[in-house]
Amino acid sequence: MNTLHIGIAGAGLAGRTLAWRLLRAGCRVSLFDSRQRAELDTASMTAAAMLSPLAELAVSDDAVFALGQRSMQLWPRWIAELAEGGGAPVYFRQQGTLVVAHAPDQTSLEHFSRLLHHKLPEACRAQVHTLDAAGLAQQEPALAGRFGGGLFLDSEGQLANEQWMAALATEIDRLGVAWHEGQAVDRVEEGRIVCASGTHAVDVAVDARGVGSKAQWPQLRGVRGEVLRVECHGVTLQRPVRLMHPRYALYVVPRPDHQFVVGATELESEDTGPVTLRSTLELGSALHSLHPAFGEARVLRLSAALRPALDDNRPAVALRDGVWHINGLYRHGYLCAPAVIDKLAHKLLGTDSEEKA
Ligand SMILES: Cc1cc2nc3c(=O)[nH]c(=O)nc-3n(C[C@H](O)[C@H](O)[C@H](O)COP(=O)(O)OP(=O)(O)OC[C@H]3O[C@@H](n4cnc5c(N)ncnc54)[C@H](O)[C@@H]3O)c2cc1C
Repeated sequence: MNTLHIGIAGAGLAGRTLAWRLLRAGCRVSLFDSRQRAELDTASMTAAAMLSPLAELAVSDDAVFALGQRSMQLWPRWIAELAEGGGAPVYFRQQGTLVVAHAPDQTSLEHFSRLLHHKLPEACRAQVHTLDAAGLAQQEPALAGRFGGGLFLDSEGQLANEQWMAALATEIDRLGVAWHEGQAVDRVEEGRIVCASGTHAVDVAVDARGVGSKAQWPQLRGVRGEVLRVECHGVTLQRPVRLMHPRYALYVVPRPDHQFVVGATELESEDTGPVTLRSTLELGSALHSLHPAFGEARVLRLSAALRPALDDNRPAVALRDGVWHINGLYRHGYLCAPAVIDKLAHKLLGTDSEEKA
């Protein structure tokens, strides 16, 4: 049993999931966040949480691909382990992704297909299937007759991030976390977490504040993303659908209870204001163009948040001035979280990662 006392600043995807892994290993964990646990305006609560190692390779690199592949093995295990605590189940599906384009935008789809073929390791190319119209209709009957074909990316998935975050909250409470909600952290230093209300001594300090760590890691930047969430009873999709377009690439992700998440804009801006009309039109038009029945969808939420990114757009785990940092999850946080967090948890616990075995 490990007796370390670990202080974690930031209870987003990174901080909260790490807290759970460390509590499971027997550590004492103090978790600090300037927000309350269910507040929605963070990247972790806003994300579409697609788990797309293949499709994301078009806009990332080998390192992110490898972390994504490893995480796709860990997600089902971690979701099962979380359920062992008796909490609510987390919606998770691994039924692939479809990529389509309307007739005038076919070159965008062709370019995407070629890029993927070029960047994918040869051993993984068989996971990309080219579909004709009939094949597409077979995979996703709601799209029958709407597209001339598309790509099917085997084994990709998605999860309901708000369920993951809520289930983690319940479980880490059960495991005895000391959760300081609504407590802004001013600085994370070796052996201590410094808040306006006082300084908390810990054995090991971890900074997982996303863009909130910028004062201590100036290379961090926020990349604004906006999503639309709707409820629609007229369309059923089994899996995420990516819509290729020369100006923007958007996706529609099915969720429980006839809900869909449509995303996401990607703007090099740290504006945290509400979603703009322009983005609302782009997201709404993409959804409506996928299937006209979405015209009757009820808008549940429009949200914006900042993705924490570093210059190389890769997730980073680093020990700097006696403080562990986990950050830069950018647009791949859910895709890469288990692999990145597993690595950091093993470092903190001084144990061997299974990956090496
Ligand atoms: C629109 C959008 C769509 C996305 N879609 C996907 C997707 O489909 N697939 C995917 O893999 N990833 C996706 N992502 C990316 C993913 O959401 C992020 O990479 C991930 O959530 C980052 O988690 P984090 O814990 O590092 O940061 P955050 O979620 O930003 O969490 C940081 C936490 O630190 C707290 N904090 C900040 N400052 C302080 C302070 N001073 N003191 C105390 N606490 C503080 C915040 O309150 C917050 O709770 C998307 C992101 C966005 C915005």
